[in-house]
Amino acid sequence: MRAARFYGGKDIRVEEIPVPEPGPGEVLVRIRSAGICGSDLHNYRGNRASVFTPPWEQGHELAGEVAGLGKDVTGLKIGQRIAIEGEHLVGCGVCRHCLAGDNHICPTRGFVNGQRHGSHGFSEYDVCVARNCHPLPHNVSCDEAVLLDSYACAVHVLNRAPLHVTDTLAIIGTGAIGLTLGQVARVYGARRVIMIGTRAAPLRIAQNCGAADEVVAIEDGDPVAAVMKLTDGQGADAVIETVGGNAQILAQAMALARRGGTVSVMGVFTAPQTIDPSLGFSRELTVKWSNSLSSWHGISEFRTAIDLVSSGRLLAAPIITHHFPLEKIAEAFAATDDKRSSGAIRVVVHA
Ligand SMILES: [Zn+2]
Ligand SMILES: [Zn+2]
Repeated sequence: MRAARFYGGKDIRVEEIPVPEPGPGEVLVRIRSAGICGSDLHNYRGNRASVFTPPWEQGHELAGEVAGLGKDVTGLKIGQRIAIEGEHLVGCGVCRHCLAGDNHICPTRGFVNGQRHGSHGFSEYDVCVARNCHPLPHNVSCDEAVLLDSYACAVHVLNRAPLHVTDTLAIIGTGAIGLTLGQVARVYGARRVIMIGTRAAPLRIAQNCGAADEVVAIEDGDPVAAVMKLTDGQGADAVIETVGGNAQILAQAMALARRGGTVSVMGVFTAPQTIDPSLGFSRELTVKWSNSLSSWHGISEFRTAIDLVSSGRLLAAPIITHHFPLEKIAEAFAATDDKRSSGAIRVVVHA
């Protein structure tokens, strides 16, 4: 089969490798669509060493069809369309966090039988743990299913920092995480969603796809002043940061929040952040991190995301802006890396 193999940094090659064999409790999947997530870029940009030795495979936003079943797999049929919950989130199943349904913070998250495990969406086939394979309703396409990881992250952050119908939510960032979150928050019933971003095109898409009621373009001036103006000088009830990276955004997120408000951090920061604790103290802010997804009171957040997309209330299509065949994966990564010139939000690769 053909698979993209990562040799470090921008060195990505499409090579011929054997089709993997599903072991007990595993499923062989013929992959149809795989999204490039912001986290796929950390090594590409040289920001973070890979946990794998080269060449490795990656791609954790994937969907396709069941092509083979290992021993002891029940409830799935050959040919059935499925979405895969990222294998890097597999927990040990026995620690206190896994037993509480919080496999996303399992200390050995992403290890199976002592081996580092991950999804390999950028290839023709992948072997997946059966419990991470979720059947897709007939009205959810494999392309839409690529966004389930992002939608489920949105479900997770809103479970952790619940909104009320009276609340104004400010979202920093207009990537796939920001847009999917805005849509889920509006479906969830937030009174108003304000989206803050640096580029005009995704802000326009945000308003057109139901991800924002108001948008604030950073190039038009100080976003804190703009949000204060939109909230009668109060600030947002909840602020969710989705950008991360090395800019000083956490301080800005705190400045956007009202007295007694909440700041949630979804972005993966690659640099320490300087904050003003006296602002947090005087406003009595709550700052929470939100890492990936798992379950909430026993309910799978990934399945919740499937149901929300299937209900027709989330508009996934406008968030998927680019498609590339596997052979052009280097171009797909370049488009994701430079969103300003490509106009990309979510880029999907097809093997
Ligand atoms: Zn992701
Ligand atoms: Zn565990």
